[in-house]
Amino acid sequence: MDVIVLGGGLMGTASAYFLARRGARVTLIERNQVGTGATVASFGNIRRTGRHLTQLPLAHRSLSLWGEAEKMLGQDVEFRATGHIRLIFDEDGLADMRAYAEAARPWGLELEELGSREISARFPGLGPDAIAASFSPQDGSGNPRLIAPAFAEAARKLGAEIIEGALVEKLERTNSGFLVATSKGSFAAECLLNAAGAWGAGIAAQFGEEVPLDARGPQMGVTEPLPHRILPVVGIWTRDKEHGAYLRQVERGNIVFGGAAERVSVDLDPGHAIADPLRLPVQLRAVARLLPAIAEVAVIRTWSGCEGYMRDMLPVMGQSATTPGLFHAFGFSGHGFQLGPGVGDAMAELITTDRCETPLDDFSVDRFSHHSS
Ligand SMILES: Cc1cc2nc3c(=O)[nH]c(=O)nc-3n(C[C@H](O)[C@H](O)[C@H](O)COP(=O)(O)OP(=O)(O)OC[C@H]3O[C@@H](n4cnc5c(N)ncnc54)[C@H](O)[C@@H]3O)c2cc1C
Repeated sequence: MDVIVLGGGLMGTASAYFLARRGARVTLIERNQVGTGATVASFGNIRRTGRHLTQLPLAHRSLSLWGEAEKMLGQDVEFRATGHIRLIFDEDGLADMRAYAEAARPWGLELEELGSREISARFPGLGPDAIAASFSPQDGSGNPRLIAPAFAEAARKLGAEIIEGALVEKLERTNSGFLVATSKGSFAAECLLNAAGAWGAGIAAQFGEEVPLDARGPQMGVTEPLPHRILPVVGIWTRDKEHGAYLRQVERGNIVFGGAAERVSVDLDPGHAIADPLRLPVQLRAVARLLPAIAEVAVIRTWSGCEGYMRDMLPVMGQSATTPGLFHAFGFSGHGFQLGPGVGDAMAELITTDRCETPLDDFSVDRFSHHSS
């Protein structure tokens, strides 16, 4: 089986790897460099807490692949299962956490509830005013700069062709499959996987599949390095967006943070998401509730990245509803980093076997047309 994968972010490279592992002949076409879209901009959170429940089977599948990543890919992509703590500062947050924990348990996610004394004993320096927290010990983080190039390299070793800097000039369905004419030559295959991230809706529209996707850039920042003390990824249960920050300390000591600020709107052409310095004070105030020591530290860089947000905040994954041989995996709505390896494995299973052990029905490309009719 021949497959063209369009887009070399985490979804495209992971799919290329798992497809090649299943014996498919893969050509991955990326117009820039592998991993330089939303993937490299990611905060790197490998979290299951708070996910839409029907996404948990895919998230579990992905987490176990993150655990095997170093062996599977032949390099350390800095996955560390340091745990994910979400602090709680009020009764609403506590009620939301308990309701989610109860609902998520039958879906295979067990959250520990910590009291304030346990938080300060186990995680000194975090949220002195927190009344409680949830803790998910198996979750953690990975390095967003390493993961897509690592998947691409591993796919290449299995025979996949990875073509970077290729501008797509024509994309069409033929009698035997698909033809993709690019600035680096023309490629044909019986299947096409649309893994074009925020640009995926434009590709789907070319095949008569309109979906509501909004291109936006969440804003991130990083501090100067400090002695390494904070192990878990830290977040919050809150109903107030202005408090919704998160942070983690990388092993080199810098504290990476995000959330709380509104996401900037991004023009898909050229797709450059630019962090807005005016949003930084709101963000830092929210981070300081989680980690007061941030007030003493210099922020050395801010950035953003162009991500596709679907109207219902769920990705588009699965078979095309209009075009045989076409598959989609895009629109990961700000939470695709954790899912990436699982998405690649699930899409490879679906494309090569016509079935997928992980339920993908909620992510179908035509769900928006069903709902409006
Ligand atoms: C700032 C930020 C922080 C985030 N933090 C987290 C987090 O902590 N945890 C989490 O789970 N998720 C997070 N996310 C979301 C996560 O990073 C994304 O969901 C995920 O990386 C999407 O991967 P992708 O492969 O679909 O898209 P991308 O990485 O954007 O890749 C798509 C690729 O397709 C290419 N492309 C587009 N059109 C074409 C074309 N016509 N021809 C060829 N190539 C094309 C692009 O150049 C791009 O490289 C974050 C996102 C951002 C922006």
